[in-house]
Amino acid sequence: MPMLKRAGLFLCAFAKRLYAILGEKRCRVCGAPCPPGDAIPLCPECAAGLTPVPYDFCPCCGQRVRKNDARRFFCRDCLLHPPPWQEIYFFGPYERILRELLVCFKFSGDLAAGQLVGMLLAQSMPESFYGSPHILVPIPLSKKRLRERGFNQALELARPVVRRFSFPLVPKALTRIRDTLPQSILDSRERRINVAGAFAADADAVAGKHVLLLDDVMTTGATMREAAATLLAGGAASIGVLLAARTLKNETGHAN
Ligand SMILES: [Zn+2]
Ligand SMILES: [Zn+2]
Repeated sequence: MPMLKRAGLFLCAFAKRLYAILGEKRCRVCGAPCPPGDAIPLCPECAAGLTPVPYDFCPCCGQRVRKNDARRFFCRDCLLHPPPWQEIYFFGPYERILRELLVCFKFSGDLAAGQLVGMLLAQSMPESFYGSPHILVPIPLSKKRLRERGFNQALELARPVVRRFSFPLVPKALTRIRDTLPQSILDSRERRINVAGAFAADADAVAGKHVLLLDDVMTTGATMREAAATLLAGGAASIGVLLAARTLKNETGHAN
């Protein structure tokens, strides 16, 4: 076989192999091949571990409660200290595969993992959350944290949600006006102090609006309470909370 033809055949085979590798979808968590045409690159085994909210939860804070008809009752904490939002939805508890995806996303900069979680969140959202939101606002990072990380995880999670529902995404409605310590290294009292006065709302953007606040993970809810209170003080009519994950009680996590 002439040298040129052999080289051509080799290049053709190489291109085909490259195309097969690049074109083949691989599970974001374990690397197994994914079924063709599947919109979310997740193998069936890992997908089975990602079920939305698999327990009874308080409709106010998302914390696990024991009663079977829990959706009708607030937990004790929420009865004693009602949060400033009127509804909450999250994809699942901050554990196992969901936690793995969020850690890859937030701490290793795996934006595809974040996009996947955002898509799962958007696809599982109940009608009350896409029926009448006025604006969607991701919890902002400080300028310093944004520089360090290179992206705001809440804003990245919001993108698949707005692609699906066409909500107006208004990141500038809320800004972080000072840097804070990472909440994950603090106890619940310190978390409240750490975020006190950390946000400012744009009154023009939020006045009279129902604001759907989005964050990746919620643990004690201190960041979310402060952000929601700031928006209400800035003239927002009401607040809903949308999360990728909720940390269960007695767990520590990389939460805000
Ligand atoms: Zn997998
Ligand atoms: Zn509660």
